[in-house]
Amino acid sequence: MPPYRKDSASPTESGASVKPALPRGRATWLRRVPTGLRATRADVNPSRVIIVGASHGGVQLAASLRLDGFDGRIALIEREAGLPYQRPPLSKAFMKGAEAASFPLRPFSFYAANAIELLSGLSVTSIERGPKLVRTSDGADHAYDHLVIACGGRNVVPPLPGLACRGIYTLRTRNDAIALRDALTQVRRVAVIGGGFIGLEFAAVARGLGIDVTVIEAAARLMARIVSPAISGIFLDRHRNSGVTVLLGTPAAGVIDDGAGRASGVRLADGRIVEADAVLVAAGVRPETDIAEAAGLALDDGIAVDGSLTTSDPSISAIGDCASFPVAGTGSRIRLESVQAASDQARAVSQRLTGRPAEYAAIPWFWSDQGPFKLQIAGLAAGTDASVTTTPMPGQTAVFCFADGTLKAVETVNAPGEHLGARKLLGAGKPVSLAQLERESFSIRATLATLADRPVR
Ligand SMILES: Cc1cc2nc3c(=O)[nH]c(=O)nc-3n(C[C@H](O)[C@H](O)[C@H](O)COP(=O)(O)OP(=O)(O)OC[C@H]3O[C@@H](n4cnc5c(N)ncnc54)[C@H](O)[C@@H]3O)c2cc1C
Repeated sequence: MPPYRKDSASPTESGASVKPALPRGRATWLRRVPTGLRATRADVNPSRVIIVGASHGGVQLAASLRLDGFDGRIALIEREAGLPYQRPPLSKAFMKGAEAASFPLRPFSFYAANAIELLSGLSVTSIERGPKLVRTSDGADHAYDHLVIACGGRNVVPPLPGLACRGIYTLRTRNDAIALRDALTQVRRVAVIGGGFIGLEFAAVARGLGIDVTVIEAAARLMARIVSPAISGIFLDRHRNSGVTVLLGTPAAGVIDDGAGRASGVRLADGRIVEADAVLVAAGVRPETDIAEAAGLALDDGIAVDGSLTTSDPSISAIGDCASFPVAGTGSRIRLESVQAASDQARAVSQRLTGRPAEYAAIPWFWSDQGPFKLQIAGLAAGTDASVTTTPMPGQTAVFCFADGTLKAVETVNAPGEHLGARKLLGAGKPVSLAQLERESFSIRATLATLADRPVR
């Protein structure tokens, strides 16, 4: 097996050999496992690992396995043709004009240099758990010792009349993005169904191009599933100030056909009509679970995994947007849709498969670029019951979110230093109270300094 070889920082091909650089056992997002999660014989050092889905989770797992010394077969099977690519730029830099080819996850040379078989343009159609095989759309069977499902999610398509019209777009894949960007050169008015991250990122770019944009959101506030009411309010003002029309508490009822099979607007549930030459449907993501369900794996808002990311079959793991995992100490599960979660989960599974099992216990973090505003979130704001908004520096915002008086998340706008500090604060393993932050005048740096002197409770 060749030594691990890393891609260069530039998107050009490179075969430069480098030292392993990814986090190992000391990383803060890994904890030693409770005895119940110890790897079984079936988990450790399998000789054939098959990964379904070559995106942020799957490609990171293949890379981490080589970094962690795995010298068996790695096959990455991916439905989309071509070189696996990064998704976040699709609603940001790519929409503004960057080349689609500029965002590969790794250069082509990386896969050959690390003996990773990339089978792209092939779907896994079934998992045969008895003989441990996956079948692909070309009719071939591939044997595995351990299978990792990294199938991600697919966009929710709301049951609205008119969605078959021309001029309706969605945004998940490179091809979706190419079609939507082409449309932007030809339209004057765009309607966006859904005021979540992707809808709002797109709205900001389209508005920046001088297009009239209306965001249609059924909930009473923007990004309601993920962010605090304070951040929803701040972004509502910012989008409206930039000229985007935002309709809240306003479900879409259907797309209007212009009579020639093309969308001419969106009909709202209250009877109003938003005229538009193109409609982006950005109504959320649902986990891709079809093959897992057909194989009889346990599901619970995604493929249900335990704290070590193992599914109900010990020879199968699941990571990324498709996996729901237990939140330590709460009895509840969560499914995260973020690059960081998919990547951290991949690293955790790699460690388990190479004999160093650890519970996945990362502090989640997310980002969203909406026009000139960079929103970064450390922790989970959903389910918090109080927040305090501060201005660390002029032009910056930090929202501290609490549940029962304990800090659970910090949301920042254009304050990357505060975001990094917040990740340290939440990852320190010590609860931080509202009272303590008040004493430190909501200075993250000062609070971190006091934590260093305090024993873990
Ligand atoms: C436009 C856009 C912007 C985003 N911006 C951000 C951002 O700013 N920050 C952030 O943290 N996150 C962002 N995200 C979310 C982030 O991209 C996802 O959380 C991340 O891609 C999840 O990685 P994944 O590997 O779990 O799944 P995915 O990226 O969804 O990849 C799953 C892969 O599996 C393949 N697949 C599925 N089923 C099969 C099968 N049966 N056989 C073979 N292959 C299969 C799919 O084709 C897909 O390529 C964005 C997402 C989009 C779409």
